[in-house]
Amino acid sequence: MKKTSELYRGKSKTVYCTEEKDFLIIHFRDDISANNGLKFQNFAGKGSINNAINHFVMTKLQDNGIKCHLENKISDNELLVKKLIMLPIECVLRNRAAGSLIKRIDIKEGIVLNPPIFEIFLKNDMKNDPMINHSYCETFGWVSKKHLITMKSITYKINDILNKLFNDISIILVDFKLEFGLLNNEIVLGDEFSPDTARLWDIKNMDKLDKDLFRKNPTNSSGVIQAYELVASRLSNYFIK
Ligand code: ADP
Ligand code: UDP
Repeated sequence: MKKTSELYRGKSKTVYCTEEKDFLIIHFRDDISANNGLKFQNFAGKGSINNAINHFVMTKLQDNGIKCHLENKISDNELLVKKLIMLPIECVLRNRAAGSLIKRIDIKEGIVLNPPIFEIFLKNDMKNDPMINHSYCETFGWVSKKHLITMKSITYKINDILNKLFNDISIILVDFKLEFGLLNNEIVLGDEFSPDTARLWDIKNMDKLDKDLFRKNPTNSSGVIQAYELVASRLSNYFIK
């Protein structure tokens, strides 16, 4: 399927319309950003690594009954997906304390969170994606009560599937962010799962294998790419087995 016009250029991906109105092509660019675009770099190879990682993960989720936008990986950097009406919130699941949680409350990084914590944030760059709750969604009409309950339950299901997957490749799934959309009024997982949108630590030495490397040292491109490649190669070996 061929790209037609550009629909949206985000911070790390560009979304294109295709000849078929119900399908989009997502181009994973080499751009990486943090602090809501304040830190910005271009790391050669990052787009294709994230496209590969996302494809492995979404395939695994689909095989386990999770409805995803994934159709086909059509090139190193491009993914064909079903067009969704994206919901304006980000769902975050935390298995261990890190990132904004340890800034918000007095807790040590790495502490296991039992049960894992589910949080929601409004997708709004101008307001730095503020944390919200189900009551905000209902009052402001961002997501219906029914859809939010479904998103929460799917996020926990995805966490179970991915905890097992990453444990099998000796990686701790610390936390991750998901975006959902609607297709025929049904909740479907969209966007991506990659080291840009999840915290992944090596079980052996607790080394960070995700965007925190960039957040902490924005010019260290080789370190970031090596870490992302390690995640991709472990997933690839897992799927070859
Ligand atoms: P951002 O918008 O945060 O800068 P990206 O660079 O990742 O993020 O841009 C990708 C955009 O594509 C996001 O806004 C995301 O919500 C949207 N998107 C992801 N999957 C789909 C889909 N299947 N249908 C429609 N839009 C999608
Ligand atoms: N995350 C994301 N996009 C965002 C905000 C967070 O993908 O706009 C991911 C982030 O990579 C981490 C998880 O969601 O895996 C939790 O992020 P946190 O709230 O700790 O915020 P951060 O400090 O990472 O901005």
